[in-house]
Amino acid sequence: MTQPPDADARRAVAPVICYPTDTLPAPDMAFYGAVRAGLTKVGEVTVPAREARCAEIRAGQVFRITSVEGPQVGDLNLWNLSDLSERFFSGKTRALHGTHVTTGERLWSSFPHLRPMATITADTLGWYGIDGFGGSVHDVIGTRCDPYTHNLLSGGQYHHCCHSNLTRALADHLGIPRAEAEPHIHDVLNVFMCTGFTRDTGQYFMKASPVRPGDYLEFFAEIDLLACLSACPGGDCSSEHSSDTAACHPLLIEVFDPAPGSLDGWSSPPPNGYDRSHGA
Ligand SMILES: [Zn+2]
Repeated sequence: MTQPPDADARRAVAPVICYPTDTLPAPDMAFYGAVRAGLTKVGEVTVPAREARCAEIRAGQVFRITSVEGPQVGDLNLWNLSDLSERFFSGKTRALHGTHVTTGERLWSSFPHLRPMATITADTLGWYGIDGFGGSVHDVIGTRCDPYTHNLLSGGQYHHCCHSNLTRALADHLGIPRAEAEPHIHDVLNVFMCTGFTRDTGQYFMKASPVRPGDYLEFFAEIDLLACLSACPGGDCSSEHSSDTAACHPLLIEVFDPAPGSLDGWSSPPPNGYDRSHGA
């Protein structure tokens, strides 16, 4: 393919960060530290391997996703508990925070709300950073494993992809048909999953998660939340998903009340301030 004479010069233009985070309201980590200084556990849900389960978390509570028994990744969906049209916005979270998230970063909700749904308050895998392959943990790159892509690439009918697990769990939790639940399933936070893009071909890759039993990712609920977590059939995602061949383990969701008095003066974030007139 022919190149323009200034091709090298065009490639040499330095990148600029799309969304400079110095104008993003900074989370008050001292506040979250006070909240988690005296947590009281008030509930837990065990997510069986290759299944999903829901949990309701009130604004101001803390929830924690913990690896138990063995290395396992989880696919997380979040909704506003009282309005399922407000849901986790993986793409904008990625644009604001990068491809992977950790302590002090937030999970943002869909338009027109675009507000923090949850703030990450602890991450025992925060030490991992970015490895030599460009991989890191807790990604907002991937969508979720699903039976449609599996059918496209491999044929067949597999029913325990995260998409189906989340669909079943949401339907069961809300008492609605699966066909009604499915459109609510959205792109996930891949908890504990280690992923990246290959530098040479730009392809999405996964590798064995560094998670070990006892590791956790912890969140402060900024609004009332319905969470749904799937224990991915990929297990630690070291080889394949969309089948029952990988070793899989449960995941634990724990819900905590904040330290007494720690929410004084705090209020749940309002929806985004744009007036929605779109210039009309
Ligand atoms: Zn999955």
